[in-house]
Amino acid sequence: MPLRFNTCPFCHEKIVFTIEIEDIDSSQYPAPVYILHKSKSCGKTSTFYVDSLLRVSYKELEKKPGAIKTLETTK
Ligand SMILES: [Zn+2]
Repeated sequence: MPLRFNTCPFCHEKIVFTIEIEDIDSSQYPAPVYILHKSKSCGKTSTFYVDSLLRVSYKELEKKPGAIKTLETTK
């Protein structure tokens, strides 16, 4: 289960989440997935786009259409 280290686009804190191929619609890349920053001070959901190796290509503040799952950060 691939572990991803990144930063939240809202609060810029470091975040960690795990992602599986089942978490995205792999019919086109980059594929969006919602990331919920599970933090008392943030708690916001943004959209991360990943490539076919589930590496983050870019991210957007808003919830963009096309994602099939919301992943919660573990940190
Ligand atoms: Zn945040």
